Amino acid sequence: MEATTEVPIQLETEKRVSMKALAVIPGKPNTIHLREVPKPRIEDVPEGRGVLIKILNVGVDGTDKEINAAEYGAAPAGDDYLIIGHESFGRVESIGPNVTEFRPGDYVSLTVRRPGSSLYDQIGTYDMTTDDVYFERGINLRHGFLAEYVVDEPEYIIRVPENLKHVGVLMEPMSVAQKAIEQAYRIQQRLRVWKPKRAAVLGSGTLGLLATLVLRLRGLEVTTFGNTPPPYLNSRLIEDLGARYISTKELSLADASAKYGPFDLILEGTGYSPLVFEAMNVLAKNGVLAMVSVTGGSRQLEVPSDKINLGFVLGNKVAFGSVNANREYFESGVKDLSTAELQYPGWLQNLLTHPVQGLQNYEQMMRLLTATKGVVKAYCQVAATESHAAAAG
Ligand code: BGC
Ligand code: ZN
Repeated sequence: MEATTEVPIQLETEKRVSMKALAVIPGKPNTIHLREVPKPRIEDVPEGRGVLIKILNVGVDGTDKEINAAEYGAAPAGDDYLIIGHESFGRVESIGPNVTEFRPGDYVSLTVRRPGSSLYDQIGTYDMTTDDVYFERGINLRHGFLAEYVVDEPEYIIRVPENLKHVGVLMEPMSVAQKAIEQAYRIQQRLRVWKPKRAAVLGSGTLGLLATLVLRLRGLEVTTFGNTPPPYLNSRLIEDLGARYISTKELSLADASAKYGPFDLILEGTGYSPLVFEAMNVLAKNGVLAMVSVTGGSRQLEVPSDKINLGFVLGNKVAFGSVNANREYFESGVKDLSTAELQYPGWLQNLLTHPVQGLQNYEQMMRLLTATKGVVKAYCQVAATESHAAAAG
């Protein structure tokens, strides 16, 4: 009995097909390269629950830049390389016998983090893990999505309506904005009545733009800050949403707050940590500050601590951190992407400024992240001919 089961398994491994993927050698700077890796199989997921996804588009961001600079990221156990890419969009190719949630042909995006062992991980809120070691596809200890195919289980896969396929690559950054804003609203239930009027978004990149959108859809007056003087593409995109753009080169956060604030909700996503303390200083009474910048450096700062502390105490203010997103926020992200297409038709697509055709053009892709001006979202059209057809149709 045992012998007969062993034979086909061996044959299967010998036949194992390969695919192309983009990887780095974590710990060594500038090692991004194209490589042949084993193509994942539906059987890699136990109990017939595997979903094989053909990757169409993958967005890249500052995290990918940091991983390639060896400032961040780790390879899965047993491998010396890490397949990068965590902003995914693809199409279901085939499913295991026990998958009821998806059909071949469905358009999908995948969450990034995978559960560890804390209680939060066990209830599906792996984005809230208290484990010191966390697993993130394309970032930490798990291979990512810049590959021709990926396999995963239904829990980590979110369906994207076909009519959103032209902007599906925005799902992951959208989920991060959704989580921070949704958490802010839930925290504010402490107030019994909270009717926020004015919000400030610090940062005018993809995350800042999507946060501005989400807050506008919730009906807030939004002021979004960047460090480039207007007009430029991002400032115009912000104004297209009926929000206000301010360059901190022209008006400081404190001065802008005196003029247009106070801000009931502030989202800090610039990556420049000193702004967190300026934001604390100008936050409205009963206000909430969401911190979403992942700052890997070691910057030090002198702050008016008595003043900030007093303001927080006497003003009943709250500040919190937010990272990553579980499927709940991908699902609310799909809804907001749909509403955005109705309310601001074409706006989302304007964010997709820099497509890169095919995995082999990874050098061009990295240059877009480092040296090119005017980039809102750079992304790789992994299945170049197909996503082309999708964009044209
Ligand atoms: C990703 C998040 C991730 C975070 C920390 C971000 O770039 O979008 O999903 O949790 O990096 O690794
Ligand atoms: Zn990211």
